[in-house]
Amino acid sequence: MSFDYDLFVIGGGSGGVRAARVAAAEGAKVAIAEDSRMGGTCVIRGCVPKKLMVFASSYRESLKEAEDYGWEVTAGDFSWPPFKKRLHKELDRLEEIYRSMLNNSNVEIFDARAKLADPHTVELSTGQRVTAKHILIATGGHPVKPGMDNAELGMVSDDIFEMKELPKRILIVGGGYIACEFACVLHNMGVEVEMFIRKSGILRGFDEEAAGLVSEMMQQKGVKIRFGTTIVDMKLAKDVSFEGRGGTATDAAMGAPASDPVANPDIAGGSKGGTDGPIWVKASNGEEREFDQVLFATGRAPNTNDLGLENTDVKLGRKGEIEVDEYSQTAQPSIYAIGDVTDRVALTPVAIREGMAFVETVFKGNPTPVDHELIPSAVFTQPEMGTVGMTEEEAMEQEPVDVYCTSFRPMQQAFLDRPDRVLMKLIVSQANDTVLGCHIVAPGAGEMIQMAGIAVKMGATKAQFDQVCAVHPTMSEELVTMKTPMRSA
Ligand code: NDP
Repeated sequence: MSFDYDLFVIGGGSGGVRAARVAAAEGAKVAIAEDSRMGGTCVIRGCVPKKLMVFASSYRESLKEAEDYGWEVTAGDFSWPPFKKRLHKELDRLEEIYRSMLNNSNVEIFDARAKLADPHTVELSTGQRVTAKHILIATGGHPVKPGMDNAELGMVSDDIFEMKELPKRILIVGGGYIACEFACVLHNMGVEVEMFIRKSGILRGFDEEAAGLVSEMMQQKGVKIRFGTTIVDMKLAKDVSFEGRGGTATDAAMGAPASDPVANPDIAGGSKGGTDGPIWVKASNGEEREFDQVLFATGRAPNTNDLGLENTDVKLGRKGEIEVDEYSQTAQPSIYAIGDVTDRVALTPVAIREGMAFVETVFKGNPTPVDHELIPSAVFTQPEMGTVGMTEEEAMEQEPVDVYCTSFRPMQQAFLDRPDRVLMKLIVSQANDTVLGCHIVAPGAGEMIQMAGIAVKMGATKAQFDQVCAVHPTMSEELVTMKTPMRSA
């Protein structure tokens, strides 16, 4: 049977684009469909714009520190509109690079929504139907809001990059990666940030001691975190009358009610999601509050709706994710799936590796399972957290471990008598001395964990860490100088 294409990729995010290009480089005839912007979540509405916001927001502390180090600094407030303009110009540039890389690889681009009509046929929103020997679903995921009345008043992470102006006060619901990263970024940009977290800690699933320090530092810097609290009701504030109306103490101090868009032009804007007016919120403890925006950072779900999967044997899991085997193959042999739509490890570099392993397996005749073990990652809070391998909690469930941990004031901030603390932690197997996990909370932890991740992935022992000479004076030198376990578990 002959097909129009050897490979049709649905979804132009990091994983889909990489798989398309690499397969084309192997001589395959490849097409890709994307109904939004090429580059997907990571490039257009995720990692990249988020990290640029992290950079933008970090100058607040840097400028303060510069002054204390002796620089004459006249810092003003952060202004969102010029940054936003530059941000979107950069995203346009990156999208163009993705498109030209695909064009240069002879991958045909369809700017259209694609649906499966059968195991080898794709129907495009343009009405066109094409066939392919293999189909790769790389449609990613989307943010989800809790199912509550008026949830449409709240924003999701996609909307942050589209805000016309910064809100004066924002409520962030959730305590995961996205909630914590935006809490820090927005706080440093001058927004009053409050978080409602239904559990007793942030960043569930991360090493608790490391997450605890991030949480402590966030609160010390001014992010208000309410644990064991969630949102039970929300409405436009103008539709409600309650005792808290008329402005907070901070509003009074600033000489203007927060809801006055003339006196406070920063809240006059609004986003695609979210509202133009203040939002009244009722918390699970009965407290009523008012915010200019509410951000739901309550998790993400796989994009499997309206994909025509019912016309195939592709199976979905409990969260709506596409079920795949270790080679990313679905129950329909001609169809593979990679990235967030499979809900394995929802990280860009993982989707890219899954895409590469797919090409290796299908187009290079070298069956390659995807390795999901010991994936380093970073949470771009301020301070950052970098992590690889097992948390203390996971490791002690598995075997007896020694925990090496140190928390201290880093030289740069101690010099200024700032209370900032960092943390370096290794979880070590008592049985064979292997470093099972490494957790770092520090400025630049994302960069550090990439390096530490190599050693941990190679199976390095604690003795081998200790054989490495320290780089002095650095924060990460502690990773090779911790001599005595803090505790055993
Ligand atoms: P997470 O799953 O990390 O966090 C979701 C948060 O929302 C949790 O705190 C969860 O609470 C809470 N929550 C869920 N439902 C409700 C509800 N109904 N009411 C109140 N709280 C609720 O999701 P994110 O959206 O933050 O991130 C999604 C994924 O994106 C991450 O897992 C990660 O893989 C990826 N990502 C990676 C980044 C990076 O590498 N730096 C950055 C951003 C995202 P509970 O813990 O109680 O369930």
